[in-house]
Amino acid sequence: MVNTLTIEPEIFQRLHNRATLDSCSTDDLLMRLLDSPPLPAHLSNIPYQKLLEHTTDTISLFDLDLRYCYVNPILGVLTGLNPTDMIGKTDQELGMPEQNVTFWKSNWQTVIATKQEQIVTFDFLTSKGARVYESRLTPILDDNDAIIYLLAITRDITEPQRTEEMLRDIANRLPGMILSYRLKPNGEDEVPFVSAAVTTLFEVTVEEAYANIGKIWAKVHPDDLEKFRESIGESAETLMLWDYEWRIRMNDGSTKWISGRGTPRRLEDGSTLWNTLLLDITDYKTLEHQQKELIDQLELLIKTAKLGIWRLEMTNAKLEWNDQMLEIYGITREAYTNDLESWTDLLHPDDRAYILEQLNKVSVDGQIFDVNYRIIRPDGDIRYVMGSANSIHDDKNRVISLIGVNMDVTDIRRSDAKLQQINEMLQSIIEHIPVMIALFDENGQVRFVNRYWIDQLGWTVDELNQEADPLALFYPDPDYRRQAVAYMSSAQPGWRDFEISTQRGQVLDTAWASVRLSDGSSIGIGQQITERKRAEQMALEKERLIASLKMEKEHSATVQRFIANLAHDLRTPLSIIGTSRDILSRYFERIDADQRRERLETITKQLHYVTELLNDLTLINYPALDSRSLQLSPTNLVIICQVMIQDIQESVGVGHRLIFNTDQLVDFALVDDVLINRILLNLLTNAVKYSPLKSEIILRLSKRDDQLVLQVSDHGIGIADEDLAHIFDPHYRINSLPEVDGTGLGLSIVKDCVERHNGQILVESSVGHGTTFTIELPLILSPVQKEWS
Ligand code: ADP
Repeated sequence: MVNTLTIEPEIFQRLHNRATLDSCSTDDLLMRLLDSPPLPAHLSNIPYQKLLEHTTDTISLFDLDLRYCYVNPILGVLTGLNPTDMIGKTDQELGMPEQNVTFWKSNWQTVIATKQEQIVTFDFLTSKGARVYESRLTPILDDNDAIIYLLAITRDITEPQRTEEMLRDIANRLPGMILSYRLKPNGEDEVPFVSAAVTTLFEVTVEEAYANIGKIWAKVHPDDLEKFRESIGESAETLMLWDYEWRIRMNDGSTKWISGRGTPRRLEDGSTLWNTLLLDITDYKTLEHQQKELIDQLELLIKTAKLGIWRLEMTNAKLEWNDQMLEIYGITREAYTNDLESWTDLLHPDDRAYILEQLNKVSVDGQIFDVNYRIIRPDGDIRYVMGSANSIHDDKNRVISLIGVNMDVTDIRRSDAKLQQINEMLQSIIEHIPVMIALFDENGQVRFVNRYWIDQLGWTVDELNQEADPLALFYPDPDYRRQAVAYMSSAQPGWRDFEISTQRGQVLDTAWASVRLSDGSSIGIGQQITERKRAEQMALEKERLIASLKMEKEHSATVQRFIANLAHDLRTPLSIIGTSRDILSRYFERIDADQRRERLETITKQLHYVTELLNDLTLINYPALDSRSLQLSPTNLVIICQVMIQDIQESVGVGHRLIFNTDQLVDFALVDDVLINRILLNLLTNAVKYSPLKSEIILRLSKRDDQLVLQVSDHGIGIADEDLAHIFDPHYRINSLPEVDGTGLGLSIVKDCVERHNGQILVESSVGHGTTFTIELPLILSPVQKEWS
């Protein structure tokens, strides 16, 4: 060791000068130094010189003038001086620095003055770093207690000092505070050692702690003080580990939790000494508190949510259940055997294989989620369970247990099923209801349309969304479209009619209601109102045609009456004329000239009267007789026929059965409804007049090529072939049924009406079997007809 020590020149400078003894023999000196304790006899022959020469301590002996009397070789090595050269000289004489000379002088003076040993430490800087030395300065006394020499033994204490410093450093760096606590038998206590952490932990300085341990005691929370004392007392008595947690109060009023541990040791004087480690566990306590709260909440959650929790130990296949598990499976704690088999017995047979497979999966994959299965409770009740599980591994990653959660989801499943049922019902309604339903998002994009919507309007959602402005498809007219958009966004309650263009190019009459949803989307509900509109129009048409028929009947009655009156008015003058003419022709020779003149005058007078009558007739310009110009208007021929049949049926009562047939190819056409009424009225009245009671009269409306065909058939008396050529002549009457009134004008009027329509009338008849009149009119479909076909 010594050999490795090198002293730098500078250090050498600092090395104190030592006086050497010059006047005493070494042996004598050594004998004095080592006289006690006396060496054992067998060691007495060991030369002391060797001990002095081989010690690693430096040994120097001085006289009272501080001259070196003896220097051992190590000092020579350290100082770099020859020990023999040093003998008899002082430090000063050896050229030691002034500072060193003074240092040693003052120390030796103290030794001389007190006759007491002095220990001084000093340090050097060496090439290996700072080193610390300790010198023991001892006065050597003679028998009279007078100092004769001064002995200095110097030792390198760098290592022990470093160790102590390191220990202190460790103590100060520990995450807590090191406290040595000593309790004396009389109850007094003290702190032999405390680490620096006392400042932060107890807000007491190290010095204060050493001086007054009461300062540390004062920090103990009053509520904990008594128990704290007891814990120390108990540990002192039993010498068992002191392990205690207590609270202290800080200057700012806050509280800290401290944990202390230390094994007590009984000292010779009966005191007890603990070397303790105190830790601030406030954070841990808070955490512990939070953890406890969390666990409480978790337990509450498990109870409230009725979570069944299970744990399966892999080593012994034991299955542990909490109370909720028992509740879910419908078994009591007493009946529960914690083996895997009893559980699998409760699984629904159809789900068992699946569940065992899932359980296996947990071990492999580490976890499974939301596995749904059925169980059968001991009472037979089938429950739906949802489970999740995790595997727990040991440090070698072997699965040691599985832990899982079960929830009874039967009620949820049932209400889910109900919801699904309602959902399916709603979907089915939406899909099948003859109402158009469309869902628009907040940006006006179409998200959904139902089947009826597609049936009516043609476009699918995909087709619509390919369009920049799908509404332009329904409402080609920009102004009309604006109105529709305004209505849609206003989301006003109620319906509003819109004409919508379809993909097929038609225009549909529709009515729309708009419903705004909370998320900004809206639902449009639309009805096809073509039928409604048509029905409304039909009702109007029917009303119009009933009125028209009424007028026609009045007209016809007027004509009849007029002709009857005319006949009556003409009958008298014509019979007078006839009589006068008979007398004249029969008795012309027998009567005289006056009588003849009288007859002729009568004839002239009556002719004049007839002429007057006929002139008056032309002057009157009787409206019932005017030859009305053709006035074509869209007329529903079905309705005109129906109204006519119904009216005549009502007037004839049960006498005849009137039937209307149509091929439904014609309804609206451009005709003169007054004339059509006139045609039908005459033909049907004739059919009634010339057919027997209870027989059938059929009116047919049909379309043949571009002709509108009206046919009236009866099973009446028929018309003989020779008459057929004349029946359309005005006033032509066949006297087969003289009791039947008639003017012979009806058919001629019919013919006139048909011809004014550019049509033709045909008749087929068989005497005794019946007659069919067929009228063909050119068919001009009206715009209304076109729109609705
Ligand atoms: P009216 O019926 O007033 O005599 P019409 O011009 O209507 O005059 O008819 C002319 C004649 O044609 C009738 O007198 C009748 O003899 C005959 N006739 C018309 N319709 C029928 C019919 N459906 N069946 C048989 N004879 C008919």
